[in-house]
Amino acid sequence: MPERKPLISGNWKMHMNHLEAIQLIQKLSYALDHADYAATDVSIHPPFTNLRSAQTVIDADSIPIALGAQHCHWEESGAFTGEVSPAMLAKLAVSYVIAGHSERRQLFGETDENVNRRLKAILAAGMIPIMCCGETLDEREADQTETRITTQVDAGLAGLKRDQVGAMVIAYEPVWAIGTGHTATPADAQAGCALIRDRVRANFGADAAASVRVQYGGSVKPVNVAELMAQTDIDGALVGGASLEVDSFSRIVRFRLQ
Ligand code: PEP
Repeated sequence: MPERKPLISGNWKMHMNHLEAIQLIQKLSYALDHADYAATDVSIHPPFTNLRSAQTVIDADSIPIALGAQHCHWEESGAFTGEVSPAMLAKLAVSYVIAGHSERRQLFGETDENVNRRLKAILAAGMIPIMCCGETLDEREADQTETRITTQVDAGLAGLKRDQVGAMVIAYEPVWAIGTGHTATPADAQAGCALIRDRVRANFGADAAASVRVQYGGSVKPVNVAELMAQTDIDGALVGGASLEVDSFSRIVRFRLQ
């Protein structure tokens, strides 16, 4: 079975200007060391306006943190006011792009169909998608968690190749746990991540299922990360609020020492 190196990703959402971003990245680089990067991949996902500054500081100081984006359009260029293309992100040395975050689904009308188009475009541009899925509280209470995750994973990954899926990242993010302080229990987080891996196995085979990295996201903090990461099917974390401070994010990256 291939070794799945954990990936801890910081989703900064709409926080930090480019000067604050430079400072945070530099402080993070002082807080983390080679043993951390050897054990765990780290990505940060600042707002678009910070990507060039972030790329410059990461490059100049040879910081082994991967640059990520929070979203993109699926077209390469065109009349799409306000949007950014995968080619533009790739040119900035972006490695990971989040697609289908619940905030984009809920606030900006993103659908499974256009998440799927986005994934194909991100892959075609040579970057790694982090596809988010997860149920709302209403869906959980109506016993629809499994159906919701299954639909999102099946539709989001439709038409991708086995090796593409095997190399990507899928984040299980129960919507009720995002930004609320209500983390899923390790058992519930494990169940969601295992279901995602099962869907990948059913649709793309055992090799893709063994290598796809499945993150958990939803109020991950230094105090709960170690127990979450100890679960069989959890290969990393997508971290919102706690990624905005050096101390909490670096302690999450160092979950193995908690
Ligand atoms: C997120 O933005 O994907 C997220 C999980 O946020 P938080 O960690 O703040 O719940």
